[in-house]
Amino acid sequence: MAASDLPVALVTGAGQGIGRGIALRLAADGFCVVVNDVVADPSKTDAGAYEVKAKIEAAGGRAEVCRADIASASDRRTMLDFLADRFGRLDVLVNNAGVAPRQRMDILEATEESYDRVMAINLKGPHFLTQAVARRMVEWKNAGVVEQPRIAFITSVSAYASSPNRAEYCVSKAGLSMVAKLYADRLAEFGIPVIEIRPGIIETPMTSVVKERYDAMIAGGLLPTARWGRPDDVARVVGAFARGDLDYSTGQVIEVGGGFGLRRL
Ligand code: NAP
Repeated sequence: MAASDLPVALVTGAGQGIGRGIALRLAADGFCVVVNDVVADPSKTDAGAYEVKAKIEAAGGRAEVCRADIASASDRRTMLDFLADRFGRLDVLVNNAGVAPRQRMDILEATEESYDRVMAINLKGPHFLTQAVARRMVEWKNAGVVEQPRIAFITSVSAYASSPNRAEYCVSKAGLSMVAKLYADRLAEFGIPVIEIRPGIIETPMTSVVKERYDAMIAGGLLPTARWGRPDDVARVVGAFARGDLDYSTGQVIEVGGGFGLRRL
């Protein structure tokens, strides 16, 4: 085990979209970034995890790719081994990976298969990844290898906003919101801050399939800040958390939604 001299951040689902934005920002802020994704092809550097690694390195930063499916227990163990063997530390975990249902279906019709898939990736995976990471963070902190570990969860405004045509997604994000609170509570005695970051409508590959619909809703006044969110809007908040600006706010929710959650009269 060779401890890294740079602080290390693991960002799950970082091959595109919000995770990619977070990885680029944390690398620019001086972290060695572990770019996790479920698909990672080293021969493909124009998109995906290896594009992100190449972009970080071209800017003078440091990144490694760790292919793993966060829904798989053995893949999560592989990720932990990768961190321990390659760096001997982890300073920041960003639980970002998540999926929408493959098909939006009314709650009266939606299948158990889709429910199980979404819950495994969006809820069970980050819950147990955080459990495994938290144990190691406590050890690394006690050993003096990591001064100040931190954990962030990327949830969604769907944790409270009802979309009956993708109920499994909403349930998974509401559950993940509680997971963030639970870890904030449990890890406070070890001095490990945990935060929930709730994106609103962010322009990424995930939302490309509903672009026209959301364009129309935004034009119609859905958001007080009348534009799509960008991955870097979310990444800036993660950056502030990762550098310690929000440590006394452990357990809190920060919405990055252009005012979506404001009640208006
Ligand atoms: P995205 O464009 O679909 O990117 C998600 C990334 O996660 C992809 O690279 C995907 O890989 C990866 N991934 C999927 N399943 C995985 C698994 N089992 N293990 C590891 N990686 C996995 O989505 P996004 O819009 O950036 O969303 C990122 C997070 O923000 C998600 O948790 C999402 O729920 C949340 N969020 C997004 C929005 C939004 O408006 N975009 C709003 C609120 C919350 P593949 O594509 O190769 O499968």
